Amino acid sequence: MRLLAIFLALLGFCLALPASSASASAVRLADDLCTFGTGPEGKISEVIAESDKFNCSDSKFDFAGTKLWAKFPFKADIIPPGTVEIQGDNNGLSSISVHSLLTDGTVMSTYFTERQVVESWRPKGHYGLPIPGSENPATRSQITSVFVSLDNPRVASSITLMELKSKKTWDDLKLPLSAMFALLCGMAIMPFFYNAFFYGALRYSFMLWHSIMIAGTVVYTFSSSGLIFLVFPETDLMTKFLLNYWTLALCIAASGFFLDRFVEPGKIASWLRPLLLISAVLPVFVTAYIFQSSDGYDNNIRNYYHASFVPYLLIVLYTMGHALRRGSKAIWFQIAAWTPIIAFSADRIARGMDLYLGIPELDYGLYFALVLETIILAFGVANRIMRLRLKHEHTLREQVELTLLAETDGLTAIGNRRAFEKAFKQNLTERRYGHLAILDIDFFKQVNDQYGHEIGDEVLRVVGRELSTTRHFSSRIGGEEFALLIQPDERGSRKGNPTSELSEICQLLIRSVHANVPEIRQPVTFSVGVASIPKRASLRAVMAKADRRLYDAKNNGRNQVVSFDLSNLSAKPDSGTAAA
Ligand code: GH3
Ligand code: MG
Ligand code: MG
Repeated sequence: MRLLAIFLALLGFCLALPASSASASAVRLADDLCTFGTGPEGKISEVIAESDKFNCSDSKFDFAGTKLWAKFPFKADIIPPGTVEIQGDNNGLSSISVHSLLTDGTVMSTYFTERQVVESWRPKGHYGLPIPGSENPATRSQITSVFVSLDNPRVASSITLMELKSKKTWDDLKLPLSAMFALLCGMAIMPFFYNAFFYGALRYSFMLWHSIMIAGTVVYTFSSSGLIFLVFPETDLMTKFLLNYWTLALCIAASGFFLDRFVEPGKIASWLRPLLLISAVLPVFVTAYIFQSSDGYDNNIRNYYHASFVPYLLIVLYTMGHALRRGSKAIWFQIAAWTPIIAFSADRIARGMDLYLGIPELDYGLYFALVLETIILAFGVANRIMRLRLKHEHTLREQVELTLLAETDGLTAIGNRRAFEKAFKQNLTERRYGHLAILDIDFFKQVNDQYGHEIGDEVLRVVGRELSTTRHFSSRIGGEEFALLIQPDERGSRKGNPTSELSEICQLLIRSVHANVPEIRQPVTFSVGVASIPKRASLRAVMAKADRRLYDAKNNGRNQVVSFDLSNLSAKPDSGTAAA
């Protein structure tokens, strides 16, 4: 929140800065301009001689020719104070010449090489070249009209955006505005590191797309603002031009994929998703196309480029309403992030189409909107991650609960047969338990018959509760049958032979049932069959052995623990015998 407040304060300050000091001295030339095209060798003297051939109609920006001439009157009522400079979009330009025609017919000319055009860069990525003679009041008043020639112009905006400005104002603004753009780049890049850091652990694909968007926004801001010329003075105008167009197109494409992944599953209909993605990558293809086909000058490429964003813009607008109707929460962040961009873009387009005059300084607002977008979406990403984690934890907890439920015996609350089988399997690798015992209640049918099922259930509960207090794994695997996995005593004193301990457990059970179910007058006793668990044993084999010994215990008079095969007395006992 504090970050947002600082940001908004900066926005206000930075918008006020160029507006207050520069707008009074800025004059747009679009209406006053006339244009003319010549070959690369076109000379100012010939152009002045053919001055009446200049096109001043509405189609004046549809020019052809490798050298483009712009002519405008230097009217006393429109010229800013001091040295006057001509500014325009420097995308893809090379050399430029500026000529002043004085009242006596003399011409003052300055030629600027591409390098000099680069060095004359102005914030927002414009060139700013002084009009010869305007620095001197004596000649300044003599200038009647100005001719500007652009060699190999690439985009119409090099002419359509031409403005007259006070050179001093813009020299003074260069540093503060550069600092502002540097600050914007710095703010935009912070969520990038945040994403990179957390992507290592969380791996949500929308974080990657957001990072690409951030990288695109930062490079675009860095390049199109002109900051690139401050940091890398060797950059040529074509490189900057390519960077601007490509980064914005890639950024838009990434934003489509981001939106698709960021919004909760099912909140964007499956028919809409491919439309969203296709429209998002359309500008990338258009960019590739316009750059491979524009060896010569095609003043429409900027229009094609901007038009290629329109389908995506419409589909995004639709998607926002669509996801909102479907109850998406994530889409709110997208709406908050994109509203300023859409508003500033709409203003820019409207001004570009001369729908109203507006304030040219709002151009800077678009940069703020872009940076604000990355910050708002960073909050969105954090929020979405938080909700995904919560959901994940909830599912995990539910899974654990379901597993527990599926492996718990409803009556006694100890493990059931499934839990027992799982524990046995796990023990094959862990080797925690050395023996398996099956414990069966003696004459349980009689208990039920004599005292009722309720009392029988109570006996089962008591047995389950008592068994669960031992260190062994216990489970109820059938009606009145319990299976135990016997863990050797930690002190090792009972290692190898659990028979006597099982006898003690049986006595404990007898006493506990007697104490807790006083309705039953005779003692309830238990028979146990025990088998050791060899390495790589199958559950079926060990169970069969223990079952056989349980059967022997029953046949031998019940109320005892049997841990060897009575039917084969000559055989070496597993663990010895015992009777409770
Ligand atoms: P033995 O000593 O040979 O094991 O005799 P027994 O009566 O215990 O064995 P038998 O297999 O003949 O009978 C088991 C009885 O256990 C039958 C059934 O009524 C009772 N029983 C099984 N499940 C439950 C239960 O969930 N609750 C109650 N109350 N009784 C059960
Ligand atoms: Mg029984
Ligand atoms: Mg039984």
